[in-house]
Amino acid sequence: MTEGQSRLKSQAEAFKGTMLWSKIKSESIEENGLYIDLLGNANSWICKGEKKRSTLSRKFISDGNAKLIENDLNGALKLFNRGMRFAEDNEHVCLANFWRSSCYRRLNLFERSLEDIKRAKQIDWKKKLERRLERRRKFCNKKLNLKATSRKGIITVNGKTYKKLPFVSSAIKIEKNDEFGRFVTATNDIHIGDTLLIEKSYVRVSTADECSKCAKTKMNFIPCDNCVDAMFCDKDCVDNDFHSFECGKIFYKPNIDDSKVTSCILRSIVVAINTFTTVDDLIAFVEHIRLTDPNEIIVFAESPIDKYKAFFKLSTYITDKCIWDFRNQAKDIYDSIMSSTDYAAKFDTLAKQRFLVHLICHHAAIVRSNGFPTNSGIPGVNDDDFDCTIALESSYFNHSCLPNAVKLYKDDITVIRAIQPIKAGQQIFVDYLQGDLTKETSRERNEQLEFAYKFTCQCELCVNGIQKAPTLRYHLDYVFVKSKMDRCDDYIIPIRKNCVTFLQNHPKNVSSQVGYYMLSTLAFIYQKELSKQ
Ligand SMILES: [Zn+2]
Ligand SMILES: [Zn+2]
Ligand SMILES: [Zn+2]
Repeated sequence: MTEGQSRLKSQAEAFKGTMLWSKIKSESIEENGLYIDLLGNANSWICKGEKKRSTLSRKFISDGNAKLIENDLNGALKLFNRGMRFAEDNEHVCLANFWRSSCYRRLNLFERSLEDIKRAKQIDWKKKLERRLERRRKFCNKKLNLKATSRKGIITVNGKTYKKLPFVSSAIKIEKNDEFGRFVTATNDIHIGDTLLIEKSYVRVSTADECSKCAKTKMNFIPCDNCVDAMFCDKDCVDNDFHSFECGKIFYKPNIDDSKVTSCILRSIVVAINTFTTVDDLIAFVEHIRLTDPNEIIVFAESPIDKYKAFFKLSTYITDKCIWDFRNQAKDIYDSIMSSTDYAAKFDTLAKQRFLVHLICHHAAIVRSNGFPTNSGIPGVNDDDFDCTIALESSYFNHSCLPNAVKLYKDDITVIRAIQPIKAGQQIFVDYLQGDLTKETSRERNEQLEFAYKFTCQCELCVNGIQKAPTLRYHLDYVFVKSKMDRCDDYIIPIRKNCVTFLQNHPKNVSSQVGYYMLSTLAFIYQKELSKQ
């Protein structure tokens, strides 16, 4: 992800740090060859998460009811889920199921509604709700019988794909050079709307409103027995490698999304450990690849080891100062791993423990440079709803403030789709920044890019500024889109069509205020359509 558009200091060049991966040279046999101690006297920031509480559960359920009355079904769903996570006893679990089934019924998700009705009915406490549950069950069954089983759209790449890679369009390829590091170009002409890549996240930390394992939304969630922060689709999702390390804990939290970042680093470490049979294998692998080309292109890795290699080589900018800043976070992660007897047994020597700390710091640098909240910038999403996602191939796309492609998200899938016509040979860019970029000066944007990714953007908007094209304000496509956006759910298809026509016909005007508006609106509409699928 940090493959900068220009002036990117390559990883090797940027790594001025001397701390990460350095080993002690000493006369003493015990010390010699050990990785240096990065943790020292770092503090742990872990605190206990909130406890389950019936009073809070009841409050969330009644707040959810208020939302139901306002017809804010998604808002209500969140509150009923929260009510379920905080529920201490059968009464509240049953109530949460009862009300969630009502939400799903009104969302026309009749299968989901029936599942929650079934769960509510299994609980002894249900007596008072029995008749209403039965009525609702009959209603949903009737609706389901009427509804032809229309399969929901599966996301696919349109056009040709690589033979062995059905999720990668053969119209793209990954290249590298000194100027850009790794980057993605078009091998054929690409049209607006073409799907270029579909990728499952390598590591992902969900929001509290999604399955903690697979990030699905609107499921018949079952809450974690122990904490109030996690829900799972089903028993399969409960059995995952990650949650046991996070359960009941709140990590390093100077600001809210850092706790998510800590979880994401922790999860990536668990993935690394489980990729190899033994810790010795992991150490040998890391010590080997650390010395190979950091810009190696690992094309669409398939095996777990290749995927880990691709993850390990994602670009970062590491200095001793970063490593120093990671220490408290690293300590939390280290303590969490070692609190599991199984994992502590794997790291049973000082040499392995020191290695683990270095690995955590290396992963911290990768996650900080490549981890994205996929839902930020979406209206109505609070800061504490952020997730943190790392995908591998999608990270090779460079940034432009006037991108010709957009990154879209659905559950734990990342989709890259073209939003401008792209000619064969041209580089494909996505946008790393959020919000309306024309509201900031190019200097403001580049300060953010320099801070987070260590490069300066050389796009049209940054180099020449906003193009003056006042007559475009009267362009019919623009006037239409602008006038319909406040009811965009009702006009989603015509809005999309007008944006596409405009962008096809005015490739030279994308850097105007109107062009930028059409470009960002199209990206927004694509995300909306994908979320609905
Ligand atoms: Zn799940
Ligand atoms: Zn838990
Ligand atoms: Zn730019």
